[in-house]
Amino acid sequence: MKREILDEYYQTCPFPKPKTTKQKKKVNGWKNKLNRICKYCGKPYAERHEVFGGSNRQISIDNEFQVDVCRNHHEELHANSTEWAISENKKLRQHYQLKYEIELIEQGYTAEQARREWMRLIGRNYL
Ligand SMILES: [Zn+2]
Ligand SMILES: [Zn+2]
Repeated sequence: MKREILDEYYQTCPFPKPKTTKQKKKVNGWKNKLNRICKYCGKPYAERHEVFGGSNRQISIDNEFQVDVCRNHHEELHANSTEWAISENKKLRQHYQLKYEIELIEQGYTAEQARREWMRLIGRNYL
């Protein structure tokens, strides 16, 4: 229902208008999470996982080295103890390093320069 219609309704309604402070923000956050689905199983309400953690977490956020994953897959990736998680963590890191270096090469960097930039950013080679 539109706000104007609601306001009109409450002018004649015998009950007081409920307080709606902050309610709008909460709804928006909820909607965003509903649209955020797990990369692996498609579940909604996924969390955002930074592919390079620890001291590289903020760099991951700034460069969007991120994947959306459900709570279960997120915990499994962080535990890094199952065969799937170990292989997937490796794949994700290789993917984002390759993507980063290719983008630099497309801008005119040599492969060596692109690798140097990567090492300066993340400090470790995954390829
Ligand atoms: Zn995470
Ligand atoms: Zn999942």
